[in-house]
Amino acid sequence: MKTIGLIGGMSWESSAEYYRMINEEIKKKLGGLHSAKCVLYSVDFKEIEHYQSEGAWDKAGAALGEAARSLEKAGADFIVICTNTMHKVIGYIQKMITIPILHIADATADQITRQGIRSVGLLGTKYTMEQDFYKSRIESHNINVIVPADVEREVINHIIYQELCLGEIKQSSKTMYKKIINHLVDRGAEGIILGCTEIGLLVKAEDSEVPLFDTAFIHAQTAVNTSLSL
Ligand code: GLU
Repeated sequence: MKTIGLIGGMSWESSAEYYRMINEEIKKKLGGLHSAKCVLYSVDFKEIEHYQSEGAWDKAGAALGEAARSLEKAGADFIVICTNTMHKVIGYIQKMITIPILHIADATADQITRQGIRSVGLLGTKYTMEQDFYKSRIESHNINVIVPADVEREVINHIIYQELCLGEIKQSSKTMYKKIINHLVDRGAEGIILGCTEIGLLVKAEDSEVPLFDTAFIHAQTAVNTSLSL
């Protein structure tokens, strides 16, 4: 079994889920007392969120690059960045290490393709929904990406930073997400990417008439497969 290097803390609410899901998946595959070999570098999300809102992506990239370098030194065989948004700076991070990074969008696109889906709705932070770094990565797998309307993107982003990353799960927010998912389905989405690692805490499979692709779960599962096959 290879060692997984997790860059977490963005937010810790979802990093805790990654840790749980990775260990559950190892237990499912290997049984008994088996658990995952992993190292976690958890950042202070306040600092990273400040860089995001200032547009200081180079500084965020340098901070996460340092985290990745520490993980490599600690024995990680590959890196998992436990957030969709910060894949924006994957280039900065990769430059500082010699081990590979398991891209969350590639892992998700593989799952979507396996289900024969060609058009998906994307929920995530405003950076993930509005900038090109994430959408284009999904589209490079021949999948069409539909993003919510302006006002809806605001709502989704607000709920992520003001509630989900703080561990608040509200029924009223779930209702709003469900409404937005329905609009995406009306516009042709055959599946929905939960493209923020906290959304799975709020929205579950039964909340949608089309398949949901929970990026945190898919990423954790792919990390386990990689750790067992490298
Ligand atoms: N965890 C979230 C994501 O998957 C948002 C937090 C962040 O900005 O990194 O994008």
